[in-house]
Amino acid sequence: MEKKLINVAIDGTSSSGKSTMAKALAKYAGYTYIDTGAMYRAVTLYCLQHGLIADGKVDVDRLVPQLANISITFKVEGGVQETYLNGVNVEKEIRGLEVSNNVSPVAAVPQVRHALVHLQQEMGKNKGVVMDGRDIGTTVLPDAEIKIYVTSSAEIRALRRYREMQAKGDTSVTLADIVKNVQMRDHIDTTRKESPLRKAEGAYELDSTPMSADEQNQWMIDYYKRWMASHGYQA
Ligand code: C5P
Repeated sequence: MEKKLINVAIDGTSSSGKSTMAKALAKYAGYTYIDTGAMYRAVTLYCLQHGLIADGKVDVDRLVPQLANISITFKVEGGVQETYLNGVNVEKEIRGLEVSNNVSPVAAVPQVRHALVHLQQEMGKNKGVVMDGRDIGTTVLPDAEIKIYVTSSAEIRALRRYREMQAKGDTSVTLADIVKNVQMRDHIDTTRKESPLRKAEGAYELDSTPMSADEQNQWMIDYYKRWMASHGYQA
C-alpha cells in the first residue's frame, strides 16, 4: 500500500481535549503537532508585556505595526513541545489565567488572525501535520483530509483544566474562576466576526463529554487508521 502524508484539522471549544488527542495522533503517525492556541496566547502575552491590552480592550492601532516584531516558534524539548516568544521560552506563562482571560479579545483582532493564519498555512503546506485550534478546518487548512470538531460540556471542560492546573502546582485559581473563563471564551470565540468557531464542512463531530483522555486519544488514532485504510493508504 502507498504511504501518504495528510493533514489533520482538529477544532473545538477550549479544554475539550483537542490538544491531547492531536498530540497522541501526531506521535502515532510521526506527524508534526501544531498548537495554534499557543500562538494566539503568545501574542496575548506580548500585548500584556507591552501594555497593549487593558480591561479586555486591545490597543489595535499600537499593536498592528508591532506584529512584524513578534516571532513565535516551537521547539521540542525532551519530547515536549515548548513555545518561544522572540526567542524566550514562554510555555508556562502562556498557560496562566492572565493570558487565558485576555486571549479571546486578542484572537478576535482581524490583523492578528491574518498574520497567524498565514504562518499556520506555511507550516501545513507540505502535509504531515496535526493542527488544533478554532478555525483550522474552516479557514487555515480547509483542504485537510481529516477534520474533527470536538465538543464537551462546559463543566467537564472546566474540571479538566482545573485538575491540570492543580497537578502543575497552580493553586491560585478556583474551579468557579475557570468555569467563568471557559464560558467567556466560548462566547467570544463563537460570536466574533472574523472566522468564528464553528464546525467545518465535512468535519466529524465528536462529543468527548463521557470519554477519558485515553479513550479520546485511542478514538482519534482508530479514526485515522480507518480513514487511511478506507482510502487505500498505509497508516
Ligand atoms: O486552544 P487554546 O484554548 O489554547 O486557545 C486559546 C484561545 O486562542 C482560544 O480561546 C481562542 O480565543 C484563540 N484561538 C483562536 N483560533 C485558533 C486557536 C485559538 O481564535 N485557531
